[in-house]
Amino acid sequence: MTTSPSDPAAGAGPAADLAVVGAGPAGLAAAVTAAALGLTVTLLDAGARPGGQYYRHPDPALGATRPQALHHDWKAFTGREAELRAYERAGRVRHLPNRQVWSVTGSGADWTVHSRTDDEAGQPVRARAVLFATGAYERQLPFPGWTLPGVVGAGGAQAMLKSGLVLPGTGVPPARAKPRARGRVVVAGSGPLLLAVAASLAAAGARVPAVVEAAGYGPYARHTGTLLRNPAKLAEGARYGGALLRHRVRPLLRHAVVEAHGTDRVEAVTVARLDHDWRPLPGTGRRIPCDALAVGHGLVPELSLATALGCATRTAADGTAALVLTPGLRTSVPGVWAAGETGGIGGAQLALTEGEIAAHSIAGRAVPAALVRRRARLRAFADAMGAAHRPGGGWTGWLPEETAVCRCEEVPAGRIREAVEELGATDARTVKLLTRAGMGWCQGRVCGPAVAALAGGGPAADRRPLACPVRLGELAELPVD
Ligand SMILES: Cc1cc2nc3c(=O)[nH]c(=O)nc-3n(C[C@H](O)[C@H](O)[C@H](O)COP(=O)(O)OP(=O)(O)OC[C@H]3O[C@@H](n4cnc5c(N)ncnc54)[C@H](O)[C@@H]3O)c2cc1C
Repeated sequence: MTTSPSDPAAGAGPAADLAVVGAGPAGLAAAVTAAALGLTVTLLDAGARPGGQYYRHPDPALGATRPQALHHDWKAFTGREAELRAYERAGRVRHLPNRQVWSVTGSGADWTVHSRTDDEAGQPVRARAVLFATGAYERQLPFPGWTLPGVVGAGGAQAMLKSGLVLPGTGVPPARAKPRARGRVVVAGSGPLLLAVAASLAAAGARVPAVVEAAGYGPYARHTGTLLRNPAKLAEGARYGGALLRHRVRPLLRHAVVEAHGTDRVEAVTVARLDHDWRPLPGTGRRIPCDALAVGHGLVPELSLATALGCATRTAADGTAALVLTPGLRTSVPGVWAAGETGGIGGAQLALTEGEIAAHSIAGRAVPAALVRRRARLRAFADAMGAAHRPGGGWTGWLPEETAVCRCEEVPAGRIREAVEELGATDARTVKLLTRAGMGWCQGRVCGPAVAALAGGGPAADRRPLACPVRLGELAELPVD
């Protein structure tokens, strides 16, 4: 969707130099750095406070006295938030919280950002450049019982703890739960986030019977140089490992939850050993009783807005689709930049670094060499981790025909396999047209990676003309090209 410079839907005010979509570590760092370099910035985010997924805040109504207790590197956030407020007061940054951006239109140096609050359309924002810092969401690989109450995303469990101060499986604030009421939460899936989640849950009082990791740590040995150049990352891993040891949490490598059991909610999981391609080994299943399961297989870049504009994507080391970016973090569309998880999953420190790099690039300044070096070091580490935890193709071996893959449209694995094997579908899009998988409320965010794997093609980059549901009246106000 493109519009002319005289777009009548565009906001009345003067165009900002830069519109940043997403106020997580990447967007926040980009906004304050750009302001420091003299640009005027409008920063939009769906959340009430900046910080994104990493610096997620408890609801003020909960009266948390030490929210920083759930965070690492809290100063990196508070410093930048203070700068943001100072630039806001100086009129250099306009921060628009609670704004869900549903589309960006325009070209070159004339962009309009269309957003809405929960209740109404937001005034369109005009800018000469756009930066997408929209982060990521969790990758889910379905298994029998994955839709039972009490089965939550691994990052979702962390989010429940950080923003709601509750443990999955209890719904009770950790401090108020009696030790016996504190649920048993199995943490499962793949990727380094599992260690962080298990350590947080255990520290908050949950009992964690096992951390079930589908990959092994053997592939890390191929990247010794990269690991040694990232001692802080190694120390972080060791910290989580130590915390899990102290809480007597059992790590199960090369294992997966292949079934969740329960009637009204999850009561136990079956865990099986996997071969190197993630195929469950027959006869290795064993049951672990639990009150909740926190499961996720890494993260997937949120690219809806960028791909709707035609930004090119690539397959990243972890098997997800990420944006193609230049060293200055330009996308393939002139006037559009990206930073953080949109360019490939890499963690909060990398997101902060990339936000600063993008701001320099947008301001037409040379990027400081230290930032370039830090990005290369952190990106290499992220790629090593991504490759080590990339799902093996054999995971579909734990997926029986009757298990729902698309939970919104209730499409079972058997129907998707039929679309592939009998009707000739070779990609997620054709499967969607034949079966409705991915056509529901989440628009394929949950089932997309699984459908793409079953279809046998590469990862399916987000293809959504609108990034969230919008009222017809708001759409009708868009100019026709
Ligand atoms: C659920 C979850 C839990 C996580 N938990 C941890 C953890 O415990 N430890 C850890 O090290 N890492 C964790 N991560 C990863 C970590 O959060 C990221 O590495 C880091 O936050 C990346 O920063 P970012 O700025 O790229 O994206 P994010 O922090 O994800 O920020 C993206 C921002 O963009 C906004 N946004 C997205 N789309 C739109 C839109 N259309 N309109 C308006 N705003 C939009 C979002 O509201 C969000 O604020 C988690 C990730 C997820 C998804």
